[in-house]
Amino acid sequence: MKKIGDNPHYDRENVLVTSPLLPPLEEFIPYLEEIWQSKRLTNGGPFHQQLEKELADYLGVQHLSLFANGTLALMTAMQALRITGEVITTPYSFVATSHSLMWNGLTPVFADVDPANYNLTPEAIERAITPRTTAIMPVHCYGVPCDVERIQEIADTYGLKVIYDAAHAFGVKLNGESILNFGDMSVLSFHATKVFNTIEGGAIICPDAKTKKRIDYLKNFGFANETTVVATGINGKLNEVQAAFGLLQLKHIDVALEQRRELTTHYMKRLGKLEGIQTLIIPDEVEWNYSYFPILINEEVMAKRDDIYHALQKNGIMGRRYFYPLISQFAMYKEFASAAPSNLPVAQYLSSNVICLPLYPGLSSSEVNKIVDIIESFSRDITAVNESSSLGMTG
Ligand SMILES: *Cc1c(COP(=O)(O)O)cnc(C)c1O
Repeated sequence: MKKIGDNPHYDRENVLVTSPLLPPLEEFIPYLEEIWQSKRLTNGGPFHQQLEKELADYLGVQHLSLFANGTLALMTAMQALRITGEVITTPYSFVATSHSLMWNGLTPVFADVDPANYNLTPEAIERAITPRTTAIMPVHCYGVPCDVERIQEIADTYGLKVIYDAAHAFGVKLNGESILNFGDMSVLSFHATKVFNTIEGGAIICPDAKTKKRIDYLKNFGFANETTVVATGINGKLNEVQAAFGLLQLKHIDVALEQRRELTTHYMKRLGKLEGIQTLIIPDEVEWNYSYFPILINEEVMAKRDDIYHALQKNGIMGRRYFYPLISQFAMYKEFASAAPSNLPVAQYLSSNVICLPLYPGLSSSEVNKIVDIIESFSRDITAVNESSSLGMTG
């Protein structure tokens, strides 16, 4: 009989799209003992303060505020900057990007993305600006940086704020500089599925101490001190157990990133030249985090995306159609003028043609080979190669 506890992935038959990074349990116990001893469970305790500092150092940023999750961090970022009216954003993302705007009474305005890097194009952003626009919320999709310079130029020209949803961009650098240092604020997610996780968690990165102070008020109900409440804040605090978990994760993150790099190289070696499959293009000036392995399938050359997706599934491989449906296709958004498919042709195409393949530390190279074999079996070229080689054997 198979017991769930026998297996750290508790799903041995299936290869999932991701599997959370977990530190060795015995290394976590001393942290818990310290918490039990101090009885400090939350409210900016010592582990919380230490994790803010260590993460800022690790990431190469000045000011970082931890949050209970990335969505609360996104919502708080908009409050901290007093954003109103319309915010230009991408439909090719996780729903939380737009939902965080709606929870602030803001109107998301969807603009189209670039087929080369899946990110908002500066041209589409500029076209979407109206007198009600106050901010832009781009996503560094799959951890590949947006065109941060052009976006800043547009923001400066039109007097807009830029808040990056950097949920995929932990550790990413552009010309040696953290990608989190661009724009007015960047927001990370430390959800279990992300490259670096605190089970649930997130952070806002901002450029100055005054802004961090305001963010810290906002994430603690608006309390500036014991008796003064300066804003209608929320409870966005990360607790001590999860902060300690994060400190321990940080000790293992470089090994995890290296494993992701090796697996990505393996995928690239086998899929990089396959006709009808486009893999991510990482520019030379980018230090990437190997967060996802999306493949863009040309259905005219290969096969239908969903046929490949279901064939993988039949073999126990759970790829994910990130991001399908587009955010703009969900019921609460699809009547928006900017959600019209004709306004978002590239995002629509990507949404119908991308599969994210499994990628996480602990994925084996034989599993990668199995996944690629299944994908290759849809390739006409490979079929031709196989036929000729079997002819050669009989002849
Ligand atoms: C994961 C994710 C979020 C939400 O983060 P949570 O920590 O789960 O709240 C927001 N945006 C994007 C792009 C994400 O991938």
